[in-house]
Amino acid sequence: MENTQYKLAAWPAIVHAKCPRCRRGDLFANSMYGFKGQVMNKTCPHCGLVYEREPGYFYVAMFVSYALNVAEMVTLAVAISVLTGSSNPWLYCGIILSVAVVLSPFNFRYSRVVLLHWLTPGLHYHPEMSKDNL
Ligand SMILES: [Zn+2]
Repeated sequence: MENTQYKLAAWPAIVHAKCPRCRRGDLFANSMYGFKGQVMNKTCPHCGLVYEREPGYFYVAMFVSYALNVAEMVTLAVAISVLTGSSNPWLYCGIILSVAVVLSPFNFRYSRVVLLHWLTPGLHYHPEMSKDNL
């Protein structure tokens, strides 16, 4: 009963790249598109969760990033084919690789978000951690 008062929804926490345990603290210290690259917080600024669960934990995010890339590229290839009807491989390569470069910060960030929110065993949301004063 007391916990429901602090319960935060999952999707806004995922979209805004928040901590998977408290859904309050930011995973990243700066914005997605910037000149300094993306800086990830070592621990949650709200609940203190250590984001890198074990040494090299974020190597697993590469597999998620790979899946995101494939999904984007296949979608784009089908869209180019449907919209232009072209069979020129340079058109496909040019557009797909340009979009892959533009989306790489997005893939970097959300591969880690997906890994922490859905693919990490034993890491779940704790509504009592969402309180203002821990
Ligand atoms: Zn947290």
